[in-house]
Amino acid sequence: QLSKRLARVGELVPEQSRLADIGSDHAYLPVALVLQKKLNFAVAGEVVTGPYEAAKKQVKKNGLTDQIVVRLADGLDAIEKLDKITAVTICGMGGVLIRDILDAGWNNQRLQGNERLVLQPNIGEKPLRDWLTVHGYTIIEEDILEENNKIYEIIVASRQEVRVAYSEKERLFGPILLKKQSPIFQKKWQGELKQRETILAQLAKAAGDQQARIQQIENELTEIREVLQ
Ligand code: SAM
Repeated sequence: QLSKRLARVGELVPEQSRLADIGSDHAYLPVALVLQKKLNFAVAGEVVTGPYEAAKKQVKKNGLTDQIVVRLADGLDAIEKLDKITAVTICGMGGVLIRDILDAGWNNQRLQGNERLVLQPNIGEKPLRDWLTVHGYTIIEEDILEENNKIYEIIVASRQEVRVAYSEKERLFGPILLKKQSPIFQKKWQGELKQRETILAQLAKAAGDQQARIQQIENELTEIREVLQ
């Protein structure tokens, strides 16, 4: 049984893709999608041995060793040309880490540029959208959902003939999320607003305290100078 978050990611993976799930941990996503018969080939990549072993165990337990290859590799190095990967999922990490994984794969050509990317950053969506924009990706779908009191965004991107120039605002909020303005989106940004208001109030208070301290020292200086005259 997948989490709501991973189930939604799975829905956004096209039917019969050849999937690379990077940072697969227990390989829950590829295992579920192959069991659903949505896919019949996937690579589960992991850079840490513990999760890599867990992924291998999970695949074996479900009798899927013919369909799912588990590889111990850094990021997109898990992909080999012969895999003919058509979709990549990178989920449950920070957006900056996802961006760095994509960038490394872009530079060493593990990423061909024609794969569908389904990305689920936990934070740092803006730097990830910046990277996608610079590298000519179009954001073709986005979703936002809440699970266990956490809000998650999902970004689906692919490179299209016509390049889209996303504005700063679209890269921060998400071009599609911004249009949809769902209740969860509203909740997320209400929270972000509150957080920034609190920071601003704290900074103003600190500035006030500092001002009082400056005044006190200035008064003391005046007193000392008067005595020394
Ligand atoms: N993708 C799963 C999910 O969304 O539930 C697991 C998320 S888990 C929090 C992040 C996983 O990414 C960890 O198992 C970690 O070892 C792996 N990871 C982090 N950096 C990685 C990298 N450069 N290459 C491959 N895996 C990586």
